[in-house]
Amino acid sequence: MAQLSDDCFAFGGPMMSVDEAVGLIAARVTPVPDVETVALARGDGRILARDIAAPLPLPPFTNSAVDGYAVASRDLPRRDAQAFPVAGRVQAGGAAPAPVEPGQAMRIFTGAPMPDGADTVFMQEDVRLEDGQVVLPAGLKPGANVRPAGEDIPAGLAALKAGRRLRPQDIALAAAFGLTELSVVRRIRVAVFSTGNELVSPGEARGAAQLFDSNRFMLMAMLARLGCDVSDLGILRDDRASLARALQQVAGSHDLILTTGGVSTGEEDHVKAAVESVGRLVLWRMAIKPGRPVAMGIIDGTPFIGLPGNPVASFVTFVHVVRPTILALSGAAPEVLAPMPVRAGFAYKKKIARREYVRVSLRKAADGAVEAVKFPREGAGLLSSLVDTDGLVELGEDVTQVEPGQTVGFLSYAGLL
Ligand code: AMP
Ligand code: MG
Repeated sequence: MAQLSDDCFAFGGPMMSVDEAVGLIAARVTPVPDVETVALARGDGRILARDIAAPLPLPPFTNSAVDGYAVASRDLPRRDAQAFPVAGRVQAGGAAPAPVEPGQAMRIFTGAPMPDGADTVFMQEDVRLEDGQVVLPAGLKPGANVRPAGEDIPAGLAALKAGRRLRPQDIALAAAFGLTELSVVRRIRVAVFSTGNELVSPGEARGAAQLFDSNRFMLMAMLARLGCDVSDLGILRDDRASLARALQQVAGSHDLILTTGGVSTGEEDHVKAAVESVGRLVLWRMAIKPGRPVAMGIIDGTPFIGLPGNPVASFVTFVHVVRPTILALSGAAPEVLAPMPVRAGFAYKKKIARREYVRVSLRKAADGAVEAVKFPREGAGLLSSLVDTDGLVELGEDVTQVEPGQTVGFLSYAGLL
């Protein structure tokens, strides 16, 4: 497990900015050292543990980019079209029957190795056949329609770096190198609890004043998208002693303990006291809306994060606190969230000195511009506000109002995980 010192998340200021939180996490969380080997087809979404240097150039050999006719560039017709005898043919996966001699052309197909003696290919659409010869037009550039060996990636280049979260295109590159397995960081083990006497799990009998636990399933789904191995530890009662017991029990066997609910400052919010009784806790008052206090701590060297109970606050703080923690635990390069500029289709007022996230849907306006439309209601408990929108408009600490037509930054839900 990644062992962290007790005061690792301590923070002196009264309100922590989102950037300070992200910076603190990146600086203090140590990556798990364990590496495992996975089959190439299982590598998507995993964190690469070691650099991969190209064991061969890509493409591995010089080949034709089109179906057509290969010639030597010194034979290229200069002013008028010229007829060439066709000396043979070479197809993908094959070999030329002989070198291309001066004054000859060779039929060639996409991906076929360039025959010796030829360095330029005419597209078949640009030529005509006449009396068994091929008539090639003037004006083609030497080297046209040829893909030289190594033009994509030269041999030896560190093409995939350790810490990279692998995407399908990265898997393709590893396959192109002929690799069958990848060294990746083992999955981060996360224990997830919900807290609250009002919660029951779906499938259980629900009392009149109870609701089905939704956050735990959202968080587990988000963690799964980040490649984590999730232990579903159910719902804990609002009771300090049983919370403390449960937290301590899972600390040794997980890399991160995540809870939702019970971190506010009401007297029924027992998570804070429970963590303090078995480890160390700091309550971050983050300058973010939605999102109330977020608790961070250490229990037996294992990091602990307590997210707020309101579903939208839980979602937004997950993105800014849990996501960077998971990335840091897995030794992944930090992924900066880069909001895309869109046009605000709404007016909004906000307090200075805190960051706000507005739930929006995108639509194409009459003039073709992409416009963000605000979800009509604002409560942090509204699950529909997450379900019926496409993402979040990020309003920085300095912003105090938004006018319709203004450019704002949009973060798609799809890009957050
Ligand atoms: P808390 O942070 O525990 O004060 O909870 C704030 C609000 O979020 C309360 O209305 C809770 O009922 C609700 N809530 C807490 N945990 C969950 C959960 N796991 N799923 C759905 N709602 C929750
Ligand atoms: Mg609660």
